[in-house]
Amino acid sequence: MTGSEKRIILFIGAPGSGKGTQSSLLASRSAIPCVSTGAILRHAATLNTPDGFRLRQIMANGALVDDATVCDAVVARLRTLRSSESLILDGFPRTVGQARRLDETLRGLGIPGPTVLHLDVPNAVLIRRLSTRRQCASCGAVYNLSSNPSTNGPRCELDGGALVERDDDGEGVVARRLAAYEAETVPVIDYYRMRNGRGGIYRRLDGTLDPSVIAKGVAEIVLVPETALAA
Ligand code: AMP
Repeated sequence: MTGSEKRIILFIGAPGSGKGTQSSLLASRSAIPCVSTGAILRHAATLNTPDGFRLRQIMANGALVDDATVCDAVVARLRTLRSSESLILDGFPRTVGQARRLDETLRGLGIPGPTVLHLDVPNAVLIRRLSTRRQCASCGAVYNLSSNPSTNGPRCELDGGALVERDDDGEGVVARRLAAYEAETVPVIDYYRMRNGRGGIYRRLDGTLDPSVIAKGVAEIVLVPETALAA
């Protein structure tokens, strides 16, 4: 990261667009911490509490979790940022309500508007990718049976954990997740696109390219000073 400016970097895109892959690559290259709301919620959904049960039902249906639950978790993390520490957000905001709450919080904390990286991928490609996506049951590493298979067969290269299909990657649930994306998250992309250069940066990236090529484009955007990007 150039300079010492604190920056919030958002990856927005449909399920299967590569948000998780690109945010982990950027986090490992830049040492900027990353928060995945999907990962936080998946963990919360494993708990044997009324809230855990509620989250399991919502996520198994391919619906979005309510704004208050998600925003409270993200805002709490934003409040812990040290003075020049940046943050990558994977999968947040997903509704215009969440984007507004993020704006309010950043304003209150004196943090500039976010750098928004939109991974654009056609639906046919998303559906194909999600049907072949596999995840390590123990560390969460993500593979793809056709484009990025594990060299360790049905087990994770990193820790040997079993590779499983995510509960919400089944065909029916994927259709509902894509519908939720169209209805709730596409307006968030418009929200940021319209104000590009005024209180934040918006960039569309071709999410069908090879992950290493996308990562290079991401680094070019994130590693230059914000003033140059806004020009
Ligand atoms: P992901 O891993 O980002 O695909 O998220 C998995 C699931 O977690 C989604 O299908 C939603 O049910 C829930 N989720 C993740 N992030 C959000 C968010 N920002 N707002 C609402 N629900 C979310």
